[in-house]
Amino acid sequence: MLALPVAALAISAGPVVPSQPFDALFSASDLGLQPLAGRKALITGASSGIGKAAACALASCGVDLVLVARREDRLTEIADEIYRRGLGVHVTTLVGDVVEGETLYEELERLAAAEDGPDIVIANAGGAFGKANVGSEDLGDVRAMLDVNVFGAIKTVRALMPSLLAKQRGHVMFIGSIAGLEAYEGGSTYCAAKAAIHAFCKALRYETYGSGVRVTNVAPGFVGEGTEFAAVRNKGDMAKAAATYDGFDELRASDIACQLLWALRQPERINVDLLHVMPSNQGGATRIKRVG
Ligand code: NAP
Repeated sequence: MLALPVAALAISAGPVVPSQPFDALFSASDLGLQPLAGRKALITGASSGIGKAAACALASCGVDLVLVARREDRLTEIADEIYRRGLGVHVTTLVGDVVEGETLYEELERLAAAEDGPDIVIANAGGAFGKANVGSEDLGDVRAMLDVNVFGAIKTVRALMPSLLAKQRGHVMFIGSIAGLEAYEGGSTYCAAKAAIHAFCKALRYETYGSGVRVTNVAPGFVGEGTEFAAVRNKGDMAKAAATYDGFDELRASDIACQLLWALRQPERINVDLLHVMPSNQGGATRIKRVG
């Protein structure tokens, strides 16, 4: 007789565990992603990069939009393009600063209180300003990074939370960063700001699990094409900005939009807590395999 290992004996003698039917296992590639049509998303930092890509991708799925940024012409261009494509969605543009815009927040709270207020919130506005070591960094940059990445994101989500909780339905997404998971030289304040948002996001998840409101922290690595991130970080020095992505295939803004849609479309029982998406050639915050 074949001698079974002790562990196998224990399992074979134990209770029969209900198994998933084979049909479910063979259709796992399509686990029932949910349609998004008819929902409404608030996106901050929608005039460029990841926010703009998310706006276009969500519009293509039939989601109404509330787009926030400081540059009105950019928001108008996106709204016009969405209408030109006849996607059947409604776009509201709100021009304002997520840090200081008092009237912006009055308007956001008014929209949130409406029956058809946003049920998807993407706190995306942010960026890195400068790349100096501690002691030589510009204090104005330090303040601005903490303001937009932390205070602005918290203020945005705070304005919408009461209505999401009352409706017992919604999805809050923060655009964090690999910088929030792994600090690097020259990025002290940006890394600290994103780490703060990661912690805030986790606390919000603890406060809301089981409430019907889902919470996702999105932590991308290098996202180049479609974004102004490197141009802003390098204060308009376009040669330095372009060199950021030399010799490797960085992520595009639309890649992140695709990941956001995937997380938003999960069945209600699934919450994607952390979406950490990297270019294949990036192994860590400062580990990049460049060719050429
Ligand atoms: P981006 O192209 O520079 O977009 C930044 C957006 O934020 C713009 O729409 C900008 O619009 C808006 N914004 C900045 N300050 C604002 C303020 N005070 N009030 C309102 N809107 C403001 O860069 P991105 O890469 O898409 O960045 C989006 C988010 O992803 C940021 O939180 C960034 O930290 C994060 N992220 C980026 C990368 C990357 O490699 N690109 C990686 C990880 C995480 P206006 O100037 O018109 O206001």
